[in-house]
Amino acid sequence: MELHVVCHPLVDDVLAALRDRRTEPAEFRRLAHRASLLVAAEATRDLPTRETEVETPLETTRARLLGPRVVAVPVLRAGLGMLDAFLELVPSAEVGYFGLERNEQTAVARRYYEKVPRELGEAVVYLLDPMLATGGSAAMALEGLQGRGAREVRLLCIVAAPEGVAYLEKTCPGAQVYTAALDRQLNDRKYILPGLGDFGDRLFGT
Ligand code: URA
Repeated sequence: MELHVVCHPLVDDVLAALRDRRTEPAEFRRLAHRASLLVAAEATRDLPTRETEVETPLETTRARLLGPRVVAVPVLRAGLGMLDAFLELVPSAEVGYFGLERNEQTAVARRYYEKVPRELGEAVVYLLDPMLATGGSAAMALEGLQGRGAREVRLLCIVAAPEGVAYLEKTCPGAQVYTAALDRQLNDRKYILPGLGDFGDRLFGT
């Protein structure tokens, strides 16, 4: 499995504010958007392009367009906080959804909704899930996408725990993971430390 931790001073800056418990939901959403732009830019850096021609006001020139079909799949509900940023960078992306719910007692994920574009074989699929904690829900989503034919899946997160990375290494060795931060560990309730708390709650003010 490939792990990419995005190293950038702007990532450090946005993470400091995202982690701050005093950050209110409206600000948290803006920060999540900024962090997602930075992670998505890194995770699309190596996408192939194809040549085209455009006419500038002065002459015709060669230019390059994004090559592959791109599909973004946010994991409900926290992944919604990353979707607008991804679509800002890749407006042509198709969008699917996975609804996964973590049982607060057992931290085990349950899939309750799935709507994903068909024929994913040639697409580059971006799974958007900001907190990679135990890796259980990410593995479930990755396996669900592979079951639908996806061959190239990249998981974009904002904070990852070493336990989740190790779990994906074991269960989804072909996955590529991009994260803004690799944190220290999980606590006994499977929250990431130091983390930023419950991403969905902070995003939606619940
Ligand atoms: N999900 C979250 O939102 N936060 C964590 O720390 C772990 C999982």
